[in-house]
Parts: sequence; structure tokens; C-alpha cells
Amino acid sequence: MSVPTIFICTAITFLMVAVALTLLSAHDRKEKATRWWAAAMWMGVLAVSVAATRTVAPAWFAIGIGNSFVIMTMSLVSAGFAVFSGDRPKLLPLFAGALIWTGCYAGLEVFREEITYRIVVLTSIMATYSVTIVHTAWRGWQTERLPTFVATVVVYGAHGVVYVARIVAGVLYPATEADGHIQAPWLVAFALEGFALTVLSAFVFTMLIKERAERRYRLAAEIDGLTSAATRRFFVSETRDLMARKQPKGVLAVIDLDHFKSINDSFGHMGGDRVLQTFGAFVTQRLEPGMVFGRLGGEEFGIFVPDVTDRQAGEFFESIRAGVEAMEIPFMGNPVRITISVGVASIRDAGQDFDHLMAAADSALYIAKDEGRNRLRFFSLAMRMHRIIEDGQESRVGLAESRLSRTGVRMQVKRA
Ligand code: GH3
Ligand code: MG
Ligand code: MG
Repeated sequence: MSVPTIFICTAITFLMVAVALTLLSAHDRKEKATRWWAAAMWMGVLAVSVAATRTVAPAWFAIGIGNSFVIMTMSLVSAGFAVFSGDRPKLLPLFAGALIWTGCYAGLEVFREEITYRIVVLTSIMATYSVTIVHTAWRGWQTERLPTFVATVVVYGAHGVVYVARIVAGVLYPATEADGHIQAPWLVAFALEGFALTVLSAFVFTMLIKERAERRYRLAAEIDGLTSAATRRFFVSETRDLMARKQPKGVLAVIDLDHFKSINDSFGHMGGDRVLQTFGAFVTQRLEPGMVFGRLGGEEFGIFVPDVTDRQAGEFFESIRAGVEAMEIPFMGNPVRITISVGVASIRDAGQDFDHLMAAADSALYIAKDEGRNRLRFFSLAMRMHRIIEDGQESRVGLAESRLSRTGVRMQVKRA
């Protein structure tokens, strides 16, 4: 296999990836990194094309300019990774490599004469960009866990190692140069590695963009944007999953913010949103592993605690209630205070069915509201009987009751 053939394959790959990424960046404007990577691939096309003129064009063009384009390809790839990780691209690192190269080429006679010097400098610059990419991808993996970040670390890490090998090879087995033709035993191997990197990079870019988009859609479906609680759908499915594991213990709380309408009336919708956000953050901070916290709708939330006794759960929810009561939420210079009412039902009392558990917690919440708000009430059979006798009219309890199936009720009677 000859080096020119590998160069042509590399150029064609750069071109195809450049076109694909350009189309992708026009389609998806949200992911800014796509543009940087597209620019890098176009720069790659340019770099390989200029470098290919070695035997016909003057050396300052084919070698001087050509290699500065090779370096710019790598630095644009690196900038793409920085942008992908949410950083602003910095001008100095973007151009530093190409400037060092051009400075050496324009300023040093020996650099133009001796290919080994050029190889060492060029390769060191490229290795530095590889290390930067590995570092950025590793940081990305720490925060976002996209699987392809790991692939990136492997690909560019290996590439960095190959560059070091290239420096060693260039020094131990120096290349000779005549009329632009380079002769070296390692030339084909490194040209092939460059081609492989181009193909693997295309794979890495597209996979990262795809994984990021998928993650965005998944989070939108699972996490409520305002409060960071699970969405209702995700909360229900997670809780159902936990309950299906035949946990004999497990407690559900339905939490409703008290007189929330008056918060909206006094501080506006923005003030109300700030309260919901602060409440969401407050609870999230206190959650223990295994607990599920979701926004059931508006200002109503659910917390499912698997594998606890009623007493433990009661203490936990009471600490949330007391914490919320003590909280001052600053909004436009005003301290806003809120309270919550909490309805609690345990699997032991309401059964293993999610809908029954939810209905039971809901009726307990109604009682908590009815008895004056800012309190915790447990669902119990006695409570239900009391309500039915006391309160013949159609109420929230009545509605909740009708959601309890006859078997559900019978089971509780048997247990009681
Ligand atoms: P109670 O103590 O009985 O629960 O009284 P309440 O005013 O909290 O109850 P209600 O359910 O009647 O009112 C809830 C209000 O919450 C009505 C709605 O405008 C408001 N709300 C629902 N979702 C949001 C939201 O995302 N942001 C804001 N700011 N308000 C919301
Ligand atoms: Mg409310
Ligand atoms: Mg409500």
C-alpha cells in the first residue's frame, strides 16, 4: 500500500464527514460542537490536499502551509470537544500550535532543511492536542456519562501514544527527503494510523451528538425542568417498579403546598415558580438513596420511600414538613414563607397496588388539609371509617374511596 493511496482515502473520508457534519449542524443548531467538528473536517480536506502537492509545489506551500493546516485540523477537533463540554473556545490554544509551527518554519533554516526536527515539533504539537482532547473527554465523562466519552479517551489516548512512537521512530530511523519524496520505514504505518483516526473520529463525533440528544430527550421525559423532581409519569413507573419487587414495607407521601394560590396572587407566577423550585431543591437535598421524588402536577408532589417502617417514614416526612415551615425563600427582596400538608400511606395499610396506595395517601392528605394544613396525616382504616360515618357528603375522601377496589378494602379489613 502506498502513501499517496492512503492520503487519497483520508481526503475522501474527511470530505464525506465534513459534508455530513455540515448538514447535521444546519439541521441541529442546538449542538454548537457540530460546527467546530465540521470546520475541522473541512480543514482536514484542505490539509491533505495541500500536503499532497509535495512533489510539485514549493516546499513553503506543501510543507509549511500544509502542516499548519494539519495542526489546525487537530486544534479545531480539540475546540469542538471543549465546546461540546460547554466551554467557550479559546483563541490562544486554537492557534498556538499552528503559530509555533509557522514560526519555526519561517524563522529557522535548520527546520526547513532537516526533516527530523520538523517531525519532532509537528508530532509534539499534535500529541499535545491529543492529550487535551483526552482530558476534555474524561471531564465530560465525569459529568455526563455518555459512553462515547470513554471511546474518545481510548481513541485519542492511543493516538497520543502513536505520536510519541512516531517521535522515537523519527529519531531512531530518520527519514530521508529528495525532491519532496520522503523515505522512511515507518511512513506507511503512520499514514494508515492517520486514516484510521479520521474514520474513528467521524464515529466518535456522530455518536457523541446522538447520545447527547438522546439524553436530552430522556431527561425531558423523566425530570421536571422547574423542580428537578421526577415527572409524574417517571415517578409512577419508578414507584410501580419498586413495589413490584414485593417489598413488604414501603411508604408513600403525597405533599401539597398550602394556600399556593395566595403565593401566586401575592408574588406573581414568577414568585410561585421560585417557591416550587426552592421546595424541589430542598427535598432533593434531603432524599436518601432509593427514595423516589416526583412532581405529580402543579404544587403537588409525591415521595416514595421503599423498605421502611411507618415510624421511620413518618419521622422523615415530619422533618421535611418542619424544614419547609422554617424556610425563608427570598424573592425580590421579600422573604416568602410556605407550609405543606402531607398525606402518608404505607403498603402495609393500603396494599401492594399502586393506585390503592396513591388513593390512600390522597385521602390522608385531604384530612391533613381539613384539620388545618401544615401537618402530616397517616392513612388508616380507622380514619376512613370515621370519615365515612362523619361525612356523608361527596368529598375528596369519597372520591378517593371509590378508587379503592372492593378487594383492596376487604384485604385491609381482614388485616385490621
Ligand atoms: P390548598 O392549601 O388547599 O392546597 O390551596 P391551594 O391554593 O394551594 O390549592 P389549589 O390547588 O386550589 O391551587 C394550586 C395553584 O397552584 C393553582 C395554580 O395556579 C398554581 N400552580 C400550579 N402549577 C403552577 C406552576 O407551575 N407555577 C405556579 N407559579 N403556579 C402553579
Ligand atoms: Mg395546594
Ligand atoms: Mg393542589
